[in-house]
Amino acid sequence: MKLLPDQSVASNLRADRNTIYIQRRHHTGFSTGVNKADEYSWFFLLALSGTKNESITLLANMSQADIPTLTRNNSLLFYSTDQINWRRLAVPVLTDSAGLKQYATFILPVTGTCYISNTIFYDYSYLDDYFASFVARHTAYCQKTTIGTSLQNRPLRLLTLSNNANPLDRILLTTGCHPAEPDVIASQAIIDWLVSPPGLKLLTRYQVDVLPLSNPDGFANRSCLTSNGINLYWNFMKDDQKKCPEAFYLWRYILNHPPLLYLDFHSYVHQYHRHPMPYLKDTIAYRGAFTKHIVKQMDRYLIKQSRGFYRFGKLAMWPDSLSRHITQQFNTISYTKYHFNLYEGIPASQTRAVNIFIGLTKLLLRQSINHQHILLAPHGHAILDHSDRWPFTWFYYLPQLLSKSYMFGKSYWRYYRHRNQSHLFR
Ligand SMILES: [Zn+2]
Repeated sequence: MKLLPDQSVASNLRADRNTIYIQRRHHTGFSTGVNKADEYSWFFLLALSGTKNESITLLANMSQADIPTLTRNNSLLFYSTDQINWRRLAVPVLTDSAGLKQYATFILPVTGTCYISNTIFYDYSYLDDYFASFVARHTAYCQKTTIGTSLQNRPLRLLTLSNNANPLDRILLTTGCHPAEPDVIASQAIIDWLVSPPGLKLLTRYQVDVLPLSNPDGFANRSCLTSNGINLYWNFMKDDQKKCPEAFYLWRYILNHPPLLYLDFHSYVHQYHRHPMPYLKDTIAYRGAFTKHIVKQMDRYLIKQSRGFYRFGKLAMWPDSLSRHITQQFNTISYTKYHFNLYEGIPASQTRAVNIFIGLTKLLLRQSINHQHILLAPHGHAILDHSDRWPFTWFYYLPQLLSKSYMFGKSYWRYYRHRNQSHLFR
């Protein structure tokens, strides 16, 4: 077995016979804003050349001495010969509680060049061609526009799907914000569904804008950040054309074409203990009782789809995120960061994405909802009403405050009782 460091993504890559050692790659990130550069750089892509059935041991961020300290078996390994078709290596991957140290032994499934990764990292030109050929095959319903270019001059290609010259409204879908997360499979599955008979029916009412690769430089450079270290989710620098053209051009497109609904998918890469789930905003982030009512229905649908799991609050309403800007400025209903878990596999994650899309758009269709109902002036007629005034918001926060104080009080009481019974503190 021979390592191919030029094609690998890892630092301090070395091999001792058939044992491979890797360290996580460190990133400094952009100088301003929250970029979580290190956190989003924890993945590896290992290129090696070997013979089928060779036994390989892999130690990431650890030494042999750390093996007994590993307590979890919940990470995944994938392999590919072309960085297009990825399959899971069905072996246990032992990790520490943070998932940073990873240890596995596996048998090489192929002879020749093989890529091994703890995520699924698709090749950039393959994806770019994939969406271009999709448009070429469906010219009757699908158009491709370049809304701008990335910092390294790669096109930001937007697909517009429609089956009506005057659609009722528009929906925006983005994926590929963090390229090491293979959430681009959501765009692939949803556009495939949209050109099927039930999807075409939806397209007679709503136009769907899809930006499958929102961070093309990240794909090409094999990073979750842009080429100058910006994390597009946490630091969406919409007004800076020079430093963050990826955010600038997308925001400029949104300003001219504000959507009714905005969806964005992500995928867990080493937090495999988490169930696939949505990140939900406070309903009071939206203006108007009607919008709040629709959002509650959508929240309930997403929670049901995720077997009761969800994340709530600040993470979904991050001050510098597109999700917050778009809701604040237009009142657009937005669900960003719906996370897949690769344990489910690609087909199941794609079915999940399509079901989410169908479920949410069904709620819109059932009530023939358009921008007049949801968006703020001048794009619609949504206005501030009693649900935005302090008695309502107060009633909204009060139960949260009470449950927090109850939990805090209860845990302190348990601590206090234990402290007095254990005699440890005397
Ligand atoms: Zn992500």
